[in-house]
Amino acid sequence: MRGLIIGRYQPFHKGHLEVVKCVLKEVDDLIIGIGSAQISHTLENPFTAGERITMISEALKEEGLKCHYIIPIPDIWNNSLWVKHVIALTPSFNVVYTGNPLARRLFMEEGVEVREVPMFDRRKYSGTEIRRRMIMGEDWESLVPPAVARVIKQIKGVERLRDITRSDELTHLRRGDISP
Ligand code: NAD
Repeated sequence: MRGLIIGRYQPFHKGHLEVVKCVLKEVDDLIIGIGSAQISHTLENPFTAGERITMISEALKEEGLKCHYIIPIPDIWNNSLWVKHVIALTPSFNVVYTGNPLARRLFMEEGVEVREVPMFDRRKYSGTEIRRRMIMGEDWESLVPPAVARVIKQIKGVERLRDITRSDELTHLRRGDISP
């Protein structure tokens, strides 16, 4: 049986890793889909698809886990066609694992079996919280696998995120959206 998990992984954290471990107990083959693959260098999506693939493959290698396919999946601006788009880009799969309500609904409406995975300390293990800590100079490394922390340091990911924050603030200031 082949399973698909799909996410943005901005960045891949210990919650995601626990999901992979759970799913690997149920399937023979695993596909990890990198959603929003076309987006990078934004506050919500700072890392490129290639960087996210490197983070995930290094983290799985470090844990001795096997994932058969890591596939970038760009967004499309038509939710009703998204599942067909995912199917076109991936090897065939029998079951999808996702906690994302929209993804869950779209797969269910296309008749794909969807299974939920338990949440692992979602408040702490969350991309939003990790990116916030990076910007604020707080501890983020303990929330990601060591291999992911190494990749983020190699690509100077924290500096990138802080630069983007600065340029966003400047843009807002120029537009007069927020007061100084
Ligand atoms: P994410 O990286 O936030 O999460 C990935 C998965 O991990 C989700 O299933 C989430 O529930 C799970 N997860 C996160 N933290 C966890 C924790 N602590 N414990 C256990 N599980 C945890 O990614 P996401 O935003 O869910 O990714 C969905 C992707 O699908 C996005 O890229 C989105 O753009 C894409 N999408 C695209 C379309 C379209 O193009 N029309 C439509 C629907 C979805």
